[in-house]
Amino acid sequence: MMKVTVVGYWHGYPEKGEATSGYLLQHDHYNLLLDCGSGVLSQLQKYCSVNELNAIVLSHYHHDHQADIGPFQYARIMNKGMGKEMNDLTIYGHRDEEAFVKLAYHDVVKAMSYDDQAPITIGPFTFHFFKTQHPVPCYAMRIECQNQTVVYTADSSYFDELADFAKDADLLITECSGYASDPITQFGHMTSTCVGKLAAKAKPTHLLLSHLPHHGDHEQLRQEVAESFNGTISLAKSGLGIRLL
Ligand SMILES: [Zn+2]
Ligand SMILES: [Zn+2]
Repeated sequence: MMKVTVVGYWHGYPEKGEATSGYLLQHDHYNLLLDCGSGVLSQLQKYCSVNELNAIVLSHYHHDHQADIGPFQYARIMNKGMGKEMNDLTIYGHRDEEAFVKLAYHDVVKAMSYDDQAPITIGPFTFHFFKTQHPVPCYAMRIECQNQTVVYTADSSYFDELADFAKDADLLITECSGYASDPITQFGHMTSTCVGKLAAKAKPTHLLLSHLPHHGDHEQLRQEVAESFNGTISLAKSGLGIRLL
């Protein structure tokens, strides 16, 4: 059984007491964090201790997806200094930008790169990567574990190949950064209308709207997406857990 927990889901910056992008994937005592945005390190500890984490996979190097990597490195080195037991920890990122070289830290954090050429195995998970349309290099991920598939769009504007990459996922975690009328697509993001199109083509069993805007009523996003997609739609919120059997 795989479990996905929403650690943080805000677009750009965290609301009070919350976090930007972070999703905890757990299977059989293996703990993997997808993205590590602002506030994630604090929120994560509600569900998993820093020392029990095994891996972090970063989609891209915008602050709202990796701001807490520095504090995370400090947590590792300080806990090691105090003699605390900890799992080995590897951060996975792409090498398209220089930020990659800052991921490894002393002997407490390792770094490994990924690309869209070949899948990689991380613990019990197999990851395929696919470059999105965003102002900086960013990768969507297709994650397989036993017979379950989770797809994470990371940040992207809509394009047909992204829907092909997300095809038939058991859970599709999609960014939904604005309402139908918000002018955000030119910034490399999707409105609810774009997400409706994505979901109608990809046909996931369960669609999770995340990377949500700081205005309006999120329930409206769900309604706008539902105009094009009649499957299960959830709105991200802190601590939301989804079990995939
Ligand atoms: Zn971004
Ligand atoms: Zn973002």
